[in-house]
Amino acid sequence: MSHTHPPALLVSPIRDGTVIDHITAGEALNVLRILGITGTTDECLSIATNVASELMGHKDIVKIENRELVKEEVNRIALIAPRASINFIRNYTVVQKKGVEIPAVLKGVVRCPNPGCISNTNEPIESSFEVVGTGLHCLYCDTVITKDIASHII
Ligand SMILES: [Zn+2]
Repeated sequence: MSHTHPPALLVSPIRDGTVIDHITAGEALNVLRILGITGTTDECLSIATNVASELMGHKDIVKIENRELVKEEVNRIALIAPRASINFIRNYTVVQKKGVEIPAVLKGVVRCPNPGCISNTNEPIESSFEVVGTGLHCLYCDTVITKDIASHII
């Protein structure tokens, strides 16, 4: 990242796309992982971490140009950043703003930690977890992931 810009320009406005604001500080890169965005995909990204926030103390912000996230993607973010807010931008204007909702079921997003689980074999089966109060419950083998969900993201 360039250090020649003053802090006010750290996250520049985008013309069209999605701004994910109020991400739990330190989770920006996990948000990208959960959206399937890596260094080899071609989205144009701006990422700001540990930005001062009146609401949260510190927060992360991710801006994705020329892509509007779909509801299923937005809701995955709730697993690691439950206070995140999503802003859709068109022609530099926020056209829609929404919060994230924890999804009921997650398919193909998280890998089951049980090596014997059928979703970890060569069978063409997508992982499938029910979101429960204590974590994520594998619908194939009943394993429950209770912590560090981000490290299980596929
Ligand atoms: Zn399983």
